[in-house]
Amino acid sequence: MRTYGLIGQSLKHSFSADYFNSKFQREGMTDYCYELFELESIESLSRLIEEHPDLEGFNVTIPYKEQILPYLYFRDKVVDEIGACNCVKIINDKLYGYNTDVEGFLKSFIPLFQTYHHSALILGNGGAAKAVKAALDELSIQSTMVARKPNSLDEILWDTLSAGTIEDNNIIVNATPLGMYPDVNSFPPIPYKAITRFHLVIDLVYNPAKTIFLQKAEAQDAIIQNGIEMLEQQAEASWNIWSPAI
Ligand code: NAP
Repeated sequence: MRTYGLIGQSLKHSFSADYFNSKFQREGMTDYCYELFELESIESLSRLIEEHPDLEGFNVTIPYKEQILPYLYFRDKVVDEIGACNCVKIINDKLYGYNTDVEGFLKSFIPLFQTYHHSALILGNGGAAKAVKAALDELSIQSTMVARKPNSLDEILWDTLSAGTIEDNNIIVNATPLGMYPDVNSFPPIPYKAITRFHLVIDLVYNPAKTIFLQKAEAQDAIIQNGIEMLEQQAEASWNIWSPAI
Protein backbone atom coordinates (compact mmCIF):
# COMPACT_ATOMS: atom_id res chain seq x y z
CA MET A 1 0.00 0.00 0.00
CA ARG A 2 1.43 3.41 -0.97
CA THR A 3 1.10 5.28 2.31
CA TYR A 4 0.96 8.99 3.12
CA GLY A 5 0.02 10.58 6.40
CA LEU A 6 0.03 13.34 8.96
CA ILE A 7 2.21 13.61 12.04
CA GLY A 8 1.22 15.73 15.03
CA GLN A 9 0.73 15.38 18.77
CA SER A 10 -3.06 15.24 18.91
CA LEU A 11 -4.94 14.70 15.67
CA LYS A 12 -8.56 14.44 16.84
CA HIS A 13 -9.38 17.70 15.03
CA SER A 14 -7.87 16.73 11.68
CA PHE A 15 -9.81 16.36 8.40
CA SER A 16 -6.68 15.50 6.38
CA ALA A 17 -7.20 11.70 6.33
CA ASP A 18 -10.83 12.16 5.18
CA TYR A 19 -9.69 14.61 2.51
CA PHE A 20 -6.99 12.37 1.03
CA ASN A 21 -8.78 9.02 1.40
CA SER A 22 -11.90 10.49 -0.32
CA LYS A 23 -9.64 11.79 -3.10
CA PHE A 24 -7.97 8.37 -3.52
CA GLN A 25 -11.37 6.63 -3.60
CA ARG A 26 -12.85 9.16 -6.06
CA GLU A 27 -9.86 8.83 -8.39
CA GLY A 28 -9.77 5.00 -8.22
CA MET A 29 -6.36 4.97 -6.50
CA THR A 30 -7.07 1.78 -4.59
CA ASP A 31 -3.46 1.12 -3.54
CA TYR A 32 -3.05 4.49 -1.82
CA CYS A 33 -3.94 5.45 1.77
CA TYR A 34 -3.46 8.38 4.17
CA GLU A 35 -3.09 7.71 7.90
CA LEU A 36 -2.91 9.80 11.06
CA PHE A 37 0.22 9.26 13.17
CA GLU A 38 0.08 10.78 16.66
CA LEU A 39 3.60 11.19 18.04
CA GLU A 40 4.20 11.94 21.70
CA SER A 41 7.41 13.70 20.76
CA ILE A 42 9.37 14.34 17.56
CA GLU A 43 12.00 11.83 18.78
CA SER A 44 9.52 9.05 17.83
CA LEU A 45 9.75 10.03 14.15
CA SER A 46 12.68 7.72 13.26
CA ARG A 47 10.85 4.73 14.75
CA LEU A 48 7.65 5.62 12.86
CA ILE A 49 9.58 5.67 9.56
CA GLU A 50 11.30 2.34 10.34
CA GLU A 51 7.95 0.74 11.19
CA HIS A 52 6.24 2.07 8.02
CA PRO A 53 8.50 1.22 5.06
CA ASP A 54 5.58 2.00 2.72
CA LEU A 55 5.40 5.62 3.89
CA GLU A 56 6.23 7.88 0.91
CA GLY A 57 5.40 11.26 2.39
CA PHE A 58 3.67 13.02 5.23
CA ASN A 59 2.26 16.33 6.39
CA VAL A 60 3.36 17.89 9.66
CA THR A 61 1.11 19.71 12.10
CA ILE A 62 1.08 21.27 15.54
CA PRO A 63 3.53 21.25 17.35
CA TYR A 64 6.16 19.76 14.99
CA LYS A 65 6.46 22.16 12.02
CA GLU A 66 9.58 23.74 13.48
CA GLN A 67 10.80 20.77 15.54
CA ILE A 68 11.11 18.64 12.38
CA LEU A 69 13.77 20.86 10.80
CA PRO A 70 16.84 19.02 12.24
CA TYR A 71 15.49 15.74 10.79
CA LEU A 72 15.41 17.04 7.22
CA TYR A 73 18.08 15.97 4.70
CA PHE A 74 16.89 18.70 2.29
CA ARG A 75 15.01 21.94 2.97
CA ASP A 76 13.15 23.73 0.22
CA LYS A 77 13.82 27.51 -0.13
CA VAL A 78 10.49 28.40 1.55
CA VAL A 79 11.28 26.14 4.53
CA ASP A 80 14.63 27.86 4.93
CA GLU A 81 13.08 31.31 4.63
CA ILE A 82 10.32 30.86 7.19
CA GLY A 83 11.76 28.12 9.40
CA ALA A 84 8.73 25.81 9.24
CA CYS A 85 7.96 22.63 7.28
CA ASN A 86 4.53 21.02 6.83
CA CYS A 87 5.19 18.59 3.97
CA VAL A 88 7.84 15.86 3.78
CA LYS A 89 8.65 13.57 0.87
CA ILE A 90 10.65 10.42 1.67
CA ILE A 91 13.18 9.36 -0.96
CA ASN A 92 15.58 6.48 -0.13
CA ASP A 93 14.85 6.91 3.61
CA LYS A 94 15.84 10.59 3.46
CA LEU A 95 13.41 13.37 4.38
CA TYR A 96 12.90 16.23 1.90
CA GLY A 97 11.07 19.14 3.52
CA TYR A 98 8.67 21.62 1.90
CA ASN A 99 6.13 24.21 3.02
CA THR A 100 2.71 24.16 1.36
CA ASP A 101 0.98 26.30 4.02
CA VAL A 102 2.23 29.47 2.29
CA GLU A 103 0.67 28.48 -1.04
CA GLY A 104 -2.45 27.15 0.73
CA PHE A 105 -3.00 30.39 2.62
CA LEU A 106 -2.31 32.55 -0.46
CA LYS A 107 -4.80 30.65 -2.61
CA SER A 108 -7.49 30.84 0.08
CA PHE A 109 -6.80 34.51 0.85
CA ILE A 110 -6.56 36.10 -2.59
CA PRO A 111 -10.27 35.74 -3.51
CA LEU A 112 -11.26 37.46 -0.25
CA PHE A 113 -9.05 40.44 0.06
CA GLN A 114 -9.96 43.93 -1.17
CA THR A 115 -7.64 46.82 -2.01
CA TYR A 116 -8.62 48.58 1.24
CA HIS A 117 -7.26 45.64 3.30
CA HIS A 118 -3.85 47.09 4.10
CA SER A 119 -2.29 45.53 7.19
CA ALA A 120 -2.64 42.40 9.27
CA LEU A 121 -2.45 41.09 12.80
CA ILE A 122 -1.41 37.45 12.95
CA LEU A 123 -2.38 35.87 16.27
CA GLY A 124 0.40 33.42 17.21
CA ASN A 125 4.02 33.10 16.06
CA GLY A 126 4.33 29.36 15.35
CA GLY A 127 4.72 27.50 12.07
CA ALA A 128 1.37 28.49 10.56
CA ALA A 129 1.78 32.13 11.63
CA LYS A 130 5.14 32.23 9.84
CA ALA A 131 3.56 30.81 6.68
CA VAL A 132 0.78 33.43 6.81
CA LYS A 133 3.37 36.18 7.23
CA ALA A 134 5.36 34.91 4.23
CA ALA A 135 2.17 34.80 2.12
CA LEU A 136 1.19 38.35 3.13
CA ASP A 137 4.75 39.56 2.42
CA GLU A 138 4.35 38.22 -1.13
CA LEU A 139 1.31 40.48 -1.49
CA SER A 140 3.19 43.42 0.11
CA ILE A 141 0.73 43.45 3.03
CA GLN A 142 2.39 44.57 6.25
CA SER A 143 1.78 42.20 9.18
CA THR A 144 2.50 41.92 12.90
CA MET A 145 2.55 38.72 14.93
CA VAL A 146 1.01 38.58 18.41
CA ALA A 147 2.91 36.23 20.70
CA ARG A 148 3.24 34.93 24.25
CA LYS A 149 7.00 34.68 23.73
CA PRO A 150 8.04 37.18 21.03
CA ASN A 151 11.05 36.08 18.94
CA SER A 152 11.82 39.54 17.60
CA LEU A 153 11.10 43.21 18.23
CA ASP A 154 8.50 43.11 15.41
CA GLU A 155 6.27 40.74 17.42
CA ILE A 156 3.95 42.14 20.09
CA LEU A 157 2.58 40.72 23.32
CA TRP A 158 -1.11 39.87 23.70
CA ASP A 159 -1.64 42.28 26.58
CA THR A 160 -0.46 45.23 24.49
CA LEU A 161 -3.36 44.69 22.02
CA SER A 162 -5.74 47.64 22.21
CA ALA A 163 -8.84 48.74 20.30
CA GLY A 164 -6.45 51.02 18.38
CA THR A 165 -4.37 48.03 17.26
CA ILE A 166 -7.51 46.39 15.87
CA GLU A 167 -8.53 49.66 14.15
CA ASP A 168 -5.04 49.94 12.56
CA ASN A 169 -5.08 46.37 11.19
CA ASN A 170 -8.09 45.43 9.09
CA ILE A 171 -6.95 41.83 8.50
CA ILE A 172 -6.88 39.53 11.56
CA VAL A 173 -5.72 35.91 11.26
CA ASN A 174 -5.95 33.39 14.10
CA ALA A 175 -2.90 31.12 13.78
CA THR A 176 -3.20 29.68 17.29
CA PRO A 177 -5.12 26.51 18.22
CA LEU A 178 -7.49 28.56 20.43
CA GLY A 179 -11.05 27.40 19.64
CA MET A 180 -9.99 24.18 17.91
CA TYR A 181 -11.82 20.93 18.72
CA PRO A 182 -12.04 19.71 21.47
CA ASP A 183 -11.19 23.06 23.12
CA VAL A 184 -14.12 24.77 21.37
CA ASN A 185 -14.96 27.25 24.14
CA SER A 186 -11.63 29.05 24.00
CA PHE A 187 -10.92 32.07 21.81
CA PRO A 188 -8.13 34.60 21.34
CA PRO A 189 -8.33 37.46 23.88
CA ILE A 190 -8.62 40.54 21.64
CA PRO A 191 -10.88 43.65 21.78
CA TYR A 192 -13.61 42.29 19.45
CA LYS A 193 -15.77 45.42 19.78
CA ALA A 194 -13.20 47.32 17.66
CA ILE A 195 -13.78 45.00 14.67
CA THR A 196 -15.84 46.58 11.87
CA ARG A 197 -17.42 45.52 8.58
CA PHE A 198 -14.19 46.61 6.88
CA HIS A 199 -12.25 43.85 8.67
CA LEU A 200 -11.35 40.54 7.09
CA VAL A 201 -11.13 37.95 9.88
CA ILE A 202 -9.68 34.53 9.11
CA ASP A 203 -9.36 31.52 11.40
CA LEU A 204 -6.90 28.81 10.32
CA VAL A 205 -8.94 26.47 12.53
CA TYR A 206 -11.61 24.61 10.54
CA ASN A 207 -13.01 22.29 13.20
CA PRO A 208 -15.47 23.58 14.36
CA ALA A 209 -16.46 25.37 11.14
CA LYS A 210 -17.36 28.57 13.01
CA THR A 211 -15.25 29.10 16.11
CA ILE A 212 -16.20 31.58 18.83
CA PHE A 213 -13.47 33.82 17.33
CA LEU A 214 -15.33 33.86 13.98
CA GLN A 215 -18.74 34.21 15.67
CA LYS A 216 -17.55 37.30 17.54
CA ALA A 217 -16.11 38.81 14.34
CA GLU A 218 -19.31 38.04 12.42
CA ALA A 219 -21.34 39.78 15.13
CA GLN A 220 -19.32 42.92 14.25
CA ASP A 221 -20.23 42.45 10.52
CA ALA A 222 -16.67 41.51 9.49
CA ILE A 223 -16.01 39.29 6.48
CA ILE A 224 -15.05 35.90 7.95
CA GLN A 225 -13.44 32.70 6.66
CA ASN A 226 -12.37 29.49 8.37
CA GLY A 227 -9.37 27.29 7.53
CA ILE A 228 -11.03 24.66 5.34
CA GLU A 229 -10.12 26.30 2.02
CA MET A 230 -6.50 26.63 3.15
CA LEU A 231 -6.50 22.99 4.28
CA GLU A 232 -7.65 21.83 0.85
CA GLN A 233 -5.25 24.10 -1.03
CA GLN A 234 -2.23 23.03 1.05
CA ALA A 235 -3.26 19.36 0.71
CA GLU A 236 -3.36 19.67 -3.10
CA ALA A 237 0.00 21.46 -3.06
CA SER A 238 1.39 18.58 -0.94
CA TRP A 239 0.03 16.07 -3.42
CA ASN A 240 1.79 17.90 -6.26
CA ILE A 241 5.06 17.44 -4.35
CA TRP A 242 4.47 13.75 -3.56
CA SER A 243 3.30 12.67 -7.00
CA PRO A 244 4.51 11.27 -9.24
CA ALA A 245 6.62 9.36 -6.73
CA ILE A 246 10.26 8.99 -7.80
P1 NAP B 1 2.47 25.80 16.37
O1 NAP B 1 3.65 25.89 15.46
O2 NAP B 1 2.52 24.91 17.54
O3 NAP B 1 2.12 27.30 16.85
C1 NAP B 1 1.03 27.56 17.69
C2 NAP B 1 1.02 29.03 18.06
O4 NAP B 1 -0.13 29.28 18.86
C3 NAP B 1 2.24 29.45 18.89
O5 NAP B 1 2.56 30.79 18.61
C4 NAP B 1 1.70 29.30 20.31
O6 NAP B 1 2.38 30.11 21.25
C5 NAP B 1 0.29 29.81 20.12
N1 NAP B 1 -0.59 29.35 21.18
C6 NAP B 1 -0.87 28.07 21.52
N2 NAP B 1 -1.75 28.04 22.55
C7 NAP B 1 -1.99 29.35 22.87
C8 NAP B 1 -2.79 29.97 23.87
N3 NAP B 1 -3.50 29.27 24.73
N4 NAP B 1 -2.79 31.34 23.91
C9 NAP B 1 -2.06 32.07 23.04
N5 NAP B 1 -1.28 31.52 22.09
C10 NAP B 1 -1.25 30.18 22.00
O7 NAP B 1 1.16 25.37 15.55
P2 NAP B 1 0.81 25.69 14.03
O8 NAP B 1 1.22 24.56 13.20
O9 NAP B 1 1.32 27.05 13.74
O10 NAP B 1 -0.81 25.66 14.05
C11 NAP B 1 -1.55 26.71 14.64
C12 NAP B 1 -3.03 26.51 14.32
O11 NAP B 1 -3.27 26.68 12.91
C13 NAP B 1 -3.57 25.10 14.65
O12 NAP B 1 -4.88 25.22 15.13
C14 NAP B 1 -3.55 24.40 13.31
O13 NAP B 1 -4.49 23.35 13.24
C15 NAP B 1 -3.97 25.55 12.39
N6 NAP B 1 -3.51 25.34 11.00
C16 NAP B 1 -4.45 25.19 10.03
C17 NAP B 1 -4.06 25.02 8.71
C18 NAP B 1 -5.09 24.87 7.63
O14 NAP B 1 -4.75 24.36 6.55
N7 NAP B 1 -6.30 25.32 7.83
C19 NAP B 1 -2.71 24.97 8.38
C20 NAP B 1 -1.79 25.15 9.39
C21 NAP B 1 -2.20 25.32 10.70
P3 NAP B 1 3.53 29.50 22.23
O15 NAP B 1 4.73 29.31 21.33
O16 NAP B 1 3.69 30.54 23.25
O17 NAP B 1 2.99 28.19 22.75
